[in-house]
Amino acid sequence: MEDSNRHKGMRKRLAEKLYEKGIRDENVLSAIQAIPRHFFLDKAFEEHAYEDKAFPIDEHQTISQPYTVAYQTELLQVKKRDKVLEIGTGSGYQSAVLAVLGVRLYTIERHELLHQKAKKMFEVLGLLGIRSYFRDGFNGLGEFAPFDKIIVTAGAIEVPPALKKQLTIGGILVIPVGDETHQKMLKITRLNQSDYQEEILSNFRFVPLLKGKNSKK
Ligand code: SAH
Repeated sequence: MEDSNRHKGMRKRLAEKLYEKGIRDENVLSAIQAIPRHFFLDKAFEEHAYEDKAFPIDEHQTISQPYTVAYQTELLQVKKRDKVLEIGTGSGYQSAVLAVLGVRLYTIERHELLHQKAKKMFEVLGLLGIRSYFRDGFNGLGEFAPFDKIIVTAGAIEVPPALKKQLTIGGILVIPVGDETHQKMLKITRLNQSDYQEEILSNFRFVPLLKGKNSKK
């Protein structure tokens, strides 16, 4: 796979478009420019990699739209060295964007095939610090908790209680919540041991957060 100047030019324009759509965090816009999104797509969609659209990946899942990735990343307000948990590795694109921001990333995927493909891609990109797991993300990742930030990239019917409990005090959970057809982005901040502050934000459409694991056939 090759990352040409033409691809870099397309990424620069994509970042400009995301700015126009309201993404203002310079670090997030630089991360979008740093990661070759065309590496994460099937050959058939490669030419469209820098359009602001979601595309199908294996297992009937999707690579999130760049605006959605930028929006969720901006909401997380990540700092270098933050310990971050992502539920729904999928293609690994959102993971890569977080990794170049310098966070310590843990990511979970329930489809074994996607988990394995993403892991290979992290190696190709030299993102060797990403820790990826083939698990059901409903339960979070108790043995590595707490996390400064948690991002869920699939639509949940309700907030999995384990995820809130795995936040540090002051930690932020960003999760789309709703039914199969539309969800609202929630930003949940942990105030202390027992209290959380919840902000309800824009509408999105994600593939569903599902229970259980799906092993490769
Ligand atoms: N962040 C991804 C988005 C992929 S779509 C990207 O940038 O490409 C959401 C992903 O969440 C899918 O791959 C789906 O299989 C996964 N998912 C759904 N429910 C899950 C669960 N309970 N645990 C882990 N992953 C889950």
